[in-house]
Amino acid sequence: MSNLFSGLNARMRAAQRVEHANPIIPSDEPILGGLRPSNSAPRVSLPQSPSLSESMRITPPTIDWPRPLPLWLNPAYSKHIVKGNLMTLSARPKTVEHGEWIAHQVVEHYRILWNFVRVVHEKEDNGKAICNKSSCPQMSAGTNRSYTWLNKNHEPVDLPANEYMTLMQRWISGKIDDSSMFPTDPDGVSFAFHQEYSAPTAAHLFHQDPVEEWPGSRSGFPKHFASTAQLIFRQIFRVYAHLYWNHFVDPFYHFNLEKQLNSCFSHFILTATTLDMLRPEELEPMQYLIDLWTADGTFPLGSKPYLYANVERGKYISSLGRRV
Ligand SMILES: [Zn+2]
Repeated sequence: MSNLFSGLNARMRAAQRVEHANPIIPSDEPILGGLRPSNSAPRVSLPQSPSLSESMRITPPTIDWPRPLPLWLNPAYSKHIVKGNLMTLSARPKTVEHGEWIAHQVVEHYRILWNFVRVVHEKEDNGKAICNKSSCPQMSAGTNRSYTWLNKNHEPVDLPANEYMTLMQRWISGKIDDSSMFPTDPDGVSFAFHQEYSAPTAAHLFHQDPVEEWPGSRSGFPKHFASTAQLIFRQIFRVYAHLYWNHFVDPFYHFNLEKQLNSCFSHFILTATTLDMLRPEELEPMQYLIDLWTADGTFPLGSKPYLYANVERGKYISSLGRRV
């Protein structure tokens, strides 16, 4: 994925930037915050088609987001760099233990995400970043949503998005680098038993084992590993949501990176929902894109996102964009 970003810095230097990034503030645990009103999400005009429902003689599904809809809901801009079945990318190999698979996905999706964050987050030669406290005074994800951070007293505080993402990066890196949370000893790796590949005696012994188990327990992952992984997935989702709502056009569309963003985000959604790392209600800021991707087959029947989507609404959103 890193090759996708080669040559970007040179092009970035030519772009106009607004403000210096804010200094980093001390890290804290990103326990879930509330949703706050926000007015900071720029949108791009997408022509509406009021006559569509009449011509098709149908009642269109409810689209309760303010118009114009964001550019990423136009099917011309919601495409991917790869074609094929994403399900195979997100399917756990049968012999890989569940906890090991979750850990692999956490590390991989965090690494991929940070390639995108770097684009908006790092200062350029002029000392300015695209995502700064003026452009993004809150960690917003839409016109009515922003995420708060909990300070040391567990009080929710509004932070500029760049500060939020810096804290988030520090928090996730701390978890991944913590060998008691993400064991790195190769001798501790275990494998999932599978009846086709495991000796009958081994499988028999496993099923006889009365010891309490949890995802990753046989590989040395702590009992709260899955809940920590869930928090990390939740944070990654929030950052993706901010990138879509606030930065899809500038810089990702301007630098022809929107297909890469779409590919990585759809893969993330498929993985996170398949592993039950995101609840359906947490997807709300990006629900219409998930609907759209379900309608266009990105999330096929049988996938977890398909269960969480409104396919008819996705088809309707798609029809709006096609009339541009
Ligand atoms: Zn931002």
